[in-house]
Amino acid sequence: MAILNILKEGDPVLRKRSREVEEITPRIKTLIDDMVETLHRANGCGLAAPQVGILRRVVIVETEPGVIYKMINPEIIAMSGNQEEAEGCLSIPGKWGITKRPAKVTVRATGIDGRKFEITGEGLLARAFCHELDHLDGKLFTDCTVRMLDPDEVE
Ligand code: ZN
Repeated sequence: MAILNILKEGDPVLRKRSREVEEITPRIKTLIDDMVETLHRANGCGLAAPQVGILRRVVIVETEPGVIYKMINPEIIAMSGNQEEAEGCLSIPGKWGITKRPAKVTVRATGIDGRKFEITGEGLLARAFCHELDHLDGKLFTDCTVRMLDPDEVE
């Protein structure tokens, strides 16, 4: 496994749309393994393939240590409610903002075993799903902030 370089805001790759994965090749599996290692090293709760320079629809989310969702071609199939909470991004270090997101989100994705699955998340997990899926369409959390936070508002 390898630690990958995380692209930072301003890199044009972060603004591009990622392509669907048509086949789960060993290369895609290695990418996901490397993304997990990179996420753990960076202490984040989610990472999308375009953040490591790969424009493929692959994201990982781990809001609860040890519970890691590896999602290929994920799509939001249901959402409800609203929440406004603080959010940050490994590609935008040192910046935090309050975003408006649905309170509850259901995602359908393909797993590394090739099987489709659905997962519903609320609160932080719902935010993480929305945040990571946005990366696949070239969107950053700063595009949907209600307001940015001052550094002294962040613990
Ligand atoms: Zn991000």
